[in-house]
Amino acid sequence: MSVLVVVERQPEGIDDLSLQALAFARALSQDDVHALAVTTPGDTASQGVVATLGEHGVTAVHFAEDEIFGTYAPLAVARATAEIAERLQPAAIVAAGSERGNEVMAHLGALLDVPFAANCIEAASEDPGHVTRMRWGGSLLEEADLHGDVKLLTVAPHVVPAEAAPVGETSVERFAPQLSDAERLIRVSERTQAETGGVSLAEAKVVVSSGRGAGSAEGFGIIEELAGLLGGAVGCSRAVTMAGWRPHTDQVGQTGTKIAPDLYIACGISGATQHMAGCKGAKAILAVNTDPDAPILASADYAVIGDLHEVVPAISAELLKARVA
Ligand SMILES: Cc1cc2nc3c(=O)[nH]c(=O)nc-3n(C[C@H](O)[C@H](O)[C@H](O)COP(=O)(O)OP(=O)(O)OC[C@H]3O[C@@H](n4cnc5c(N)ncnc54)[C@H](O)[C@@H]3O)c2cc1C
Repeated sequence: MSVLVVVERQPEGIDDLSLQALAFARALSQDDVHALAVTTPGDTASQGVVATLGEHGVTAVHFAEDEIFGTYAPLAVARATAEIAERLQPAAIVAAGSERGNEVMAHLGALLDVPFAANCIEAASEDPGHVTRMRWGGSLLEEADLHGDVKLLTVAPHVVPAEAAPVGETSVERFAPQLSDAERLIRVSERTQAETGGVSLAEAKVVVSSGRGAGSAEGFGIIEELAGLLGGAVGCSRAVTMAGWRPHTDQVGQTGTKIAPDLYIACGISGATQHMAGCKGAKAILAVNTDPDAPILASADYAVIGDLHEVVPAISAELLKARVA
């Protein structure tokens, strides 16, 4: 049984969520895992991509080449995947449960006229259409059976560890997908640099977040200061983005970014299920909250019961003192 994995690339290599999707795929097929990666003609980084994919159990890499892949073009990626799937006839097509992975697979489902199951945590090796997947931000695990000749699945972020499993040899194929004008239409045409101080929310080792307890957009000044001292990123709850205090790109949660930092500092956040869906991959959670009964305390490894407007500057002051000493 062969499995095709649609991998996402970052400037520094393969996206970690795609490596997790590869580990998921290997549980379905030990020795016939194919990867589809998109690239522009003459891309010099593709050798490194092949080496990384080989380290993670990929037996064959299929590079779809086109100038459009210099940017993100989800329908074009879906068309390229459909093209290679028609030749390979894989039992399953797997992608990361990232925003992009889910978007590409939704397009692919429409192109192939088959259903797609998002946020899977497990699929049966004898029948990849029998899946367990996360619903409602992880508060419900659903068992489902997919129909359709090929099973389309995305893997819930940070559930399956990205472990290396080197294969002896990885073959490489390059092809130019047949893309219509309509399939080239949906693409990123412009990028605006977010003011993150250089650390992305999804990748940061430390995230300092605040919620309604911050009180205002200005209340985030102390959160930014602490994040800066820890070399981390700033996050927030949906109450904050709804109030217009922070952009949606800062939102952690079911309808925001899923994060897995070493340390998550959640200040003035109640810990609603939809928020926790985005940070349950954190290795440690420190909650700062005035309410000793706030739901977040059930998930927190450490807690300070107190006003964040006093506690957060006090932590920053101690960090600064330690630096000077
Ligand atoms: C479909 C759907 C999707 C959603 N997706 C998301 C999502 O992706 N992310 C998300 O975050 N939410 C999401 N939500 C909203 C979620 O249900 C909560 O409403 C939201 O997370 C609450 O934000 P909060 O914790 O900041 O606010 P509140 O629930 O109002 O909590 C504020 C907390 O701050 C504490 N506090 C107040 N003042 C202080 C202070 N001075 N110092 C310290 N602590 C203080 C309070 O004790 C309280 O615990 C979603 C909801 C739905 C229905």
